[in-house]
Amino acid sequence: MCKVIAICNQKGGVSKTTTTVNLGVGLVREGKKVLVIDADPQGNLSQSLGIMNPDELDVALPDIMEQIIMDKDVDVTEGIVQHEEGLDLMPCNINLSGVDVSLVNAMSREFVLKTYVESMREFYDYILIDCMPSLGMIAVNSLTAADSVLIPVQAAYLPVKGLEQLITTICRVKKHLNPSIRFEGILISMLNARTNYAKDIMELINEYYGDSIPIFESKIPFSVKASETSAAGVSIFSLDKKHPVAKAYEELTKEVIAHE
Ligand code: ADP
Ligand code: MG
Repeated sequence: MCKVIAICNQKGGVSKTTTTVNLGVGLVREGKKVLVIDADPQGNLSQSLGIMNPDELDVALPDIMEQIIMDKDVDVTEGIVQHEEGLDLMPCNINLSGVDVSLVNAMSREFVLKTYVESMREFYDYILIDCMPSLGMIAVNSLTAADSVLIPVQAAYLPVKGLEQLITTICRVKKHLNPSIRFEGILISMLNARTNYAKDIMELINEYYGDSIPIFESKIPFSVKASETSAAGVSIFSLDKKHPVAKAYEELTKEVIAHE
């Protein structure tokens, strides 16, 4: 059975892309077959996995979505890039912004990405969707296609407060488009455990959301090493598998597998 997880937060810089890479590779290391989908026109996930110029790709997610909008059959191997660490990637580029516009007049416009994801399920154990930082039509497509949503939150006061809007959108998607979507959990990232401040943030998250949304036991520490990985085009495991960030993503991976 394949599980589709959207990694979503309308705020940028909260580690959605970093989490997609490292959870994705973490799952591969546990023997799972994994597809990661870049659903952000900035193409950061594609770049983090070694595609330096996603705008120059012949086929990427926007092309596949255009085909679906025009009712054409999709070839499931088309555009897939195999990463050296064992992941499959559906890359993305700036053309996704154009798709956002064509969706306005498309039939079943919220279900375009879902149509693609459904055709890929039989080949994978996990499909992770790296969402763009907005709550627009592309993000709604990602949530509609997903079985669950994982919400990375930067361990700071304002990002935590900003979660309400995201949760409202997820609840709307659940009500109107995808009744079976569940919360995979809130992931606290970029945590500096040495400050008291971090403790306050964790209490705040627990108080606000602890009753309605699971919060992962694993927390991702802040470390510059985590940001070096994207430039290298590999995961933290490949750079330094004993690093605290690698350990944290390994623990997160186990929690996600335990949720099955
Ligand atoms: P998003 O996809 O939500 O915009 P990114 O994954 O691109 O977020 O992360 C934002 C920035 O923070 C990137 O430069 C990334 O390398 C860096 N980063 C991600 N995780 C960590 C971490 N645990 N510690 C330090 N920097 C991190
Ligand atoms: Mg990103």
